[in-house]
Amino acid sequence: MKNLKRIPFLITAGVLCFSAQISHAQKRETPTRPKLAVVIVIDQFRQEYLSRYSKFFGKDGFNRLMKNGAQFTSAHYSHATTYTGPGHAQILSGSFGHTNGIIGNRWWNPASKQVETMFYDASAKIPGVELSPKDDDTSPRNFIGNNLSDELLLANNFKSKAIGIALKDRAAVMLAGKLGKAYWFHEQAGGMVTSSYYANALPAWVQNFNAKKIPESYFGKAWTKSLPQSEYSLSHVDDFPQETDFEGLGRAFPHVLSDKSGKPSPNFYTAFTATPFATDYTLQLARTAIESEQLGEDSYPDILGVSITATDIAGHAFGPDSHEVQDMIARLDGQLAGFFKYLDARFASGEVTIVLTADHGATPLPEYMTTLGIEAGRIKKKQLGDAIEKALTDRFGPPNMIGKLVSNDPDLAKWVLLLEDPGVYINWKAVESIQSNQEAEPAFLRSKINPEEVRRIAGEAALSVKGILTYYTRDQIQNGKMPNNRWAPMFEKSFYAARSGDVLLQTKPYYFWGSYGERDSGSTHGSPYEYDTHVPMIFMGAGIRPGTYDQNVDITDIAPTLAGVLDIAAPVGNEGRKLHEILAR
Ligand SMILES: [Zn+2]
Repeated sequence: MKNLKRIPFLITAGVLCFSAQISHAQKRETPTRPKLAVVIVIDQFRQEYLSRYSKFFGKDGFNRLMKNGAQFTSAHYSHATTYTGPGHAQILSGSFGHTNGIIGNRWWNPASKQVETMFYDASAKIPGVELSPKDDDTSPRNFIGNNLSDELLLANNFKSKAIGIALKDRAAVMLAGKLGKAYWFHEQAGGMVTSSYYANALPAWVQNFNAKKIPESYFGKAWTKSLPQSEYSLSHVDDFPQETDFEGLGRAFPHVLSDKSGKPSPNFYTAFTATPFATDYTLQLARTAIESEQLGEDSYPDILGVSITATDIAGHAFGPDSHEVQDMIARLDGQLAGFFKYLDARFASGEVTIVLTADHGATPLPEYMTTLGIEAGRIKKKQLGDAIEKALTDRFGPPNMIGKLVSNDPDLAKWVLLLEDPGVYINWKAVESIQSNQEAEPAFLRSKINPEEVRRIAGEAALSVKGILTYYTRDQIQNGKMPNNRWAPMFEKSFYAARSGDVLLQTKPYYFWGSYGERDSGSTHGSPYEYDTHVPMIFMGAGIRPGTYDQNVDITDIAPTLAGVLDIAAPVGNEGRKLHEILAR
């Protein structure tokens, strides 16, 4: 009986399938390709914020995205270095650091023999800014491959436009790609800038935007709480001791924007970037870009990438469980609603596709965790450096020993060249110096030092520092001998042989090192743990089938999916999956 009953079902299913194919084919004749793709990246935003703060959201911001869009509730970064550069590099390229070379914030450049930010380019200058720090000379040259902005421009010989906007250089650059245009905020200029890589001068519309001096209009103004006081019980106390007095803003509300000089200064402009006013400013620039560059006007689709930076600056300063981050996210909902309303007024239904995601999550203030009885902490580079120096000196002797003499060469002073999360860079010049010296004493120094042993000893030594969970050497990664655990593949994805350290260190949860490990306040991100990897991924608008999707997806899936929406080639190095289940065709 069961078999008989199944026959009509199969026939019905076949008919349904057949009719589905017809409608599928019919829809393909008029592809729902947008005129404009808007990619919004919230810098430092966990997926869980969407539920934690949902009671403060209206219907037109995050809720509109979640209700009318395709929301992935389990979207993760699967690389280890959850930082701004690697995150933004991945979003529109679909590639990991092991392909695109953007492995962290900073690296040791053996060619220039100095530590450099990942996007530093000695040949790039900021037009119009004289006193810029060297690190601000930024371009996408160190990014290997291309991204979706590049592919879109290549697809029609530059009839499309691609623009990246952020307060941070690396965010704007990685949204614009190599062929688009990037604009970001510079605290010396007090306005938006670009790199000589993209143009020798700002276009008139950016100059006009700067001439409005919008940041200055906030001088003397205060960032106050937008929610009733009782609502902030969702966060820890406002004045938690390890919150930062960021550029004179103070640790608790109200945060007054001013400067002791009585007028706007680079410090004031930096403080401005930590307030919700900076998000209004960013979105105002996005509107100006749409109008001035006539984005979405013709039949060639354009990309506008907007990275919301203020959430990250405030998150670092006050921690993710602060009144400030709660207030900023509650306000961000309204700010996004306003931006969506603007897009509604300017474009017809079906002309715009919106993607919203984040470049990483956030690690709680370690001191807040310890007050709750949860193990957490800041690891100082000196602790790591001392442990590794001692272990290598115990085994091989001092690095500066030349024969029976001690060299004064400062380049031979230490075994460790650089500690840059997650990498330990070994001073191979010291190793070579010992190796090449036939008179070195004691006798074991005359034998060749095995680099693999040096790295293993360095890694083992780091384990003696509280908060370090494990280590991975480049030998393990390059020889395919990584341990079979949840984390090893994440570190492999963040390893690029010519740029990464000799040893990569993995902290325990709630521990971190690097620049925020060196400080005694503020918090960061950059780990392979849930609080740093789990971020929103929502697509809405033209070409998108709405729904809530709970399957695990990877941030590398965004680029090939949006390539599908735009009907163009996916970026060259992409490793993601086209999320075909959300494509309305
Ligand atoms: Zn970031």
